[in-house]
Parts: sequence; structure tokens; C-alpha cells
Amino acid sequence: MDRNLTSGVRVKEGRLGVVDTLSEQPIVTQEAPLGSSGATIDSEDVSLTKLAQLRDLEKQCFACRKCAIGGCLTGSNLSNVFSNMCPKARIMVVGQNPGAKEVELRRPFVGPSGAFFDKCIKDVLGIDRSRLYISNIVRCYTPGNRAPKVAETSNCRDILDQEIEILKPELVVTLGGYALKQVTGLNRISQHHGEIVVSPRYSVKVLPLYHPSPINMNNTQHSENFRSDLELVRDFL
Ligand code: SF4
Repeated sequence: MDRNLTSGVRVKEGRLGVVDTLSEQPIVTQEAPLGSSGATIDSEDVSLTKLAQLRDLEKQCFACRKCAIGGCLTGSNLSNVFSNMCPKARIMVVGQNPGAKEVELRRPFVGPSGAFFDKCIKDVLGIDRSRLYISNIVRCYTPGNRAPKVAETSNCRDILDQEIEILKPELVVTLGGYALKQVTGLNRISQHHGEIVVSPRYSVKVLPLYHPSPINMNNTQHSENFRSDLELVRDFL
């Protein structure tokens, strides 16, 4: 199957699918070549403004106790983790929620999944994570690293909304099914990975990828798909 022609989304030909959240099917509504959204490189002033806004949001995140998992201690560490604070990034990466290593270092995506991700972006794209803005849909560690509950993703949506509004990314890369659902409304990462769609909520292009967790990446097919899908990021660098 042509990987660039799925569910009506013809990526290489520059046609973009817009997610219909009712049917959860991308529908073709416009033509636009990839990487031509007209965004310009941020000036230093814009970046500083964004950084100040992100710092305010980070304070809100650290103080947030909307869910029972907010502000809990894991060991001697607070459960709330924000982002890697890269205001110049044009590409935003959204994962699921922080694990134990992330809580320990107070930075997102620095555990085993993050290490694999770092290796892949180096191998495939020749970049390091400083080119990317990295965050999660849920900002607090979940007991036993369980999957987030619906109420937690819902409570945490406001932070993601504000983050995207501040950053104005050209592309959002979602990692795994939970992030895909939260950003686009779509289910079934196995169906949508490697498609460029547009989120109706955020009006931003989205590239869904499998989550690079060890359990996923031990699956050879998922691992190959992850690397292959990652190639699509190159158009936005
Ligand atoms: S998961 Fe999000 S909404 Fe819930 S307490 Fe943590 S920061 Fe707040």
C-alpha cells in the first residue's frame, strides 16, 4: 500500500486531511504543499516573549492540583513535569505523561522511550532534541506509570491549549494513541500513523507516530514504522 495515500490523505501531493471528529475520518478539503504554511523564523524578541509566557505556564503547571495525581511526591520528587522549554522550535512533540525518570530530572521524555527517540531523530533526521519542543498531554506522573485516566487528560487539556497557542508550531508530532486522540480526536494509531492530518481544534498539521516505548519498539514492525514515519518531519525542519 502507498503509505502516503491512506484515508484520503495524499501527503506527497500536498493534499491535507482535516479530521472530522464525528466520523473520525480525515477528509480532504484543501491543497497546500508541505512546509509552506508561511511561518517565519522567530525573531529573538518573539522567542523571549514566548519563553516568558511558557515560564508563566510552567508555574501554573507545577502548582496545578486539579487531579489527585497533581503535586504528589514520587520519592522526594514532585509529580508535575512541564516541557523542555524550547521557544524557538517550529515542531512540537507531544507524548503521554511523565515517567519516573522524567519526574526525577523534572524534564519530559528523558527515560528509555526518550533515549530511543533521541537516537531515532539523530539517525533519521540528523538533529537533536534542542530543535524540538517536547511536552505531554498529561503533566503528572501516574501511580505505577499507569495510563492516564480520561478525567486527567481532560483536566490537563487547558495546559496543552495554552502551550500550542503560545508556541504556534508548524507541526505537532503525537506519540502514541493517547496523544493522537487528545490532539486530533482520532482513534487507532495503527491506522493513522504516518499520515499528516490537520487538527480541527488547533488548526495545526499533525503527524501521528507510534509511541517509542521499549514495549512498542521491541515490535520490529512498529520500530520500522516509527523510523519511516519520522522521515516526514524533515519537510518541516
Ligand atoms: S495531570 Fe494536569 S490537570 Fe491534573 S493535576 Fe497534573 S497538571 Fe493538573
